[in-house]
Amino acid sequence: MGRYRSVIGLEIHVQLSTKTKLFCSCSADVFDSPPNTNICPVCTGQPGVLPVLNEQAVEYAVKAALALNFEVHEYSRFDRKNYFYPDLPKGYQITQYFYPLATNGWVEIDVDGTKKRIRLRRLHMEEDAGKMIHAEDSLEKGSFVDYNRSGVPLIEIVTEPDISSPKEARLFLEKLRSIVRYIGVSSGDMEKGALRCDANISVVDEETGGRSNRVEVKNINSFKLVEKALEYEFGRIVEAMEKGEEIPQETRGWSMRDKKTISMRSKEEESDYRYFPEPDLPPLVISKERIEKIKESLPELPDKKKERFVKEYGIPEYDAGVLTADRDLADYYEEVVSITKKPKEASNWIMTQLLRYMNESGIDSVKDVKVKPEYFKDLFDLIDSGKITTNIAKDVFRQVFETGKSPSQIVKEKGLEVVTDENLIRQVIEKAMKENPKAVEQYRSGKKGVMGYFIGQVMRATKGKADPKVVQKIVVDMLENGE
Ligand code: ADP
Ligand code: MG
Ligand code: ZN
Repeated sequence: MGRYRSVIGLEIHVQLSTKTKLFCSCSADVFDSPPNTNICPVCTGQPGVLPVLNEQAVEYAVKAALALNFEVHEYSRFDRKNYFYPDLPKGYQITQYFYPLATNGWVEIDVDGTKKRIRLRRLHMEEDAGKMIHAEDSLEKGSFVDYNRSGVPLIEIVTEPDISSPKEARLFLEKLRSIVRYIGVSSGDMEKGALRCDANISVVDEETGGRSNRVEVKNINSFKLVEKALEYEFGRIVEAMEKGEEIPQETRGWSMRDKKTISMRSKEEESDYRYFPEPDLPPLVISKERIEKIKESLPELPDKKKERFVKEYGIPEYDAGVLTADRDLADYYEEVVSITKKPKEASNWIMTQLLRYMNESGIDSVKDVKVKPEYFKDLFDLIDSGKITTNIAKDVFRQVFETGKSPSQIVKEKGLEVVTDENLIRQVIEKAMKENPKAVEQYRSGKKGVMGYFIGQVMRATKGKADPKVVQKIVVDMLENGE
């Protein structure tokens, strides 16, 4: 631990994956839509329209709150947050300010093997705004606005400033995404804007107890960039503190081009939103029974699953963490285990082979791989029966991954079975001994290492398919007893 420590709190927006928007029946799946094709009088704020709350969005928000260990309130309420900006056609955003849906949650993260709880202050529902497009470099110069996102359902989650490093911030976001994906309430896709994060950071000088002002970094659209932007900010603030300079409390943005944060506005200029209760919507009342029912519908969450994997399958905690971070991958692993009855081998092959090839070929979901769970049994049987060596098996697996053919089929097609034909092996050695009598002499005069040369010859002739132990036995036998 150095002299300076960062204090980080995050504000996260998660897009709920409902079919329709929060207060109208426009499609909420707007990512690929041409501008202004998913809009109606409600979400573009025409006079005289009224919002109707989307029940599915409430259910998803409650689900998320429960999965994040929040206290869900039977009574919450919507409020208007007033500000003027072209992407906000009504002139206000409907959110929950005074009485949020849920408070006092927490998420546990694993920091280098140590568990740490990050407290969550609140979770509330709100609608998204539209999107400004500033086309400075294109033929059509000017600013445009796309209202497709306007009214898309979001939950906002605010953490306490419990995060102590940029890395913890990334771990926290990864965990949060894993959870919202597990329960199926959001795609959690940062690149598509379904998960957005504003990061607040200040620095404490552990020696003097001095504290810097707080800086907010906005518009970061990947996990790695959150970590990077915070590391950059930490460095910048520490540098100022060492020089005895005051860091202004301000909002900064991450510039992809310059790979640094740049000032956007100072906190003092922040608007006064003049919140007041939304008169067009009744309070949101959810019965205890309803909340309890939603709680019962929650699936096994990542932490619990990880714990169970370690206990039930005897795999290392690290492996269990990787295998359970994604629900589909966890299901896949369990299917492989149920077919092969070999939890450790299954974990090894998935961790070292499958995930590596998925990574290399840019496949995110195990649902998109061609390796069927039953192929693992096929592969393990080939290895156990001695038909192929482990090395060949790795090569076979790569081909299974690429073609979707079964391991047996690939072994048959490519003739990859272990060469057990002793005559063939003897023929190769005999030929090598004839061609290289010097090596034979050397061996017989005590340089046993020369044996490696003969083994190599056999491996080359059989393209690595001979069992090395068998080959060695024959080589020794022939060198010592041959003529
Ligand atoms: P504001 O309303 O001014 O945005 P909040 O108290 O709502 O401030 O906090 C917003 C976020 O900033 C929260 O995630 C919180 O954890 C974080 N935060 C609060 N104080 C600090 C601090 N001293 N350093 C870093 N983050 C902080
Ligand atoms: Mg705030
Ligand atoms: Zn609409």
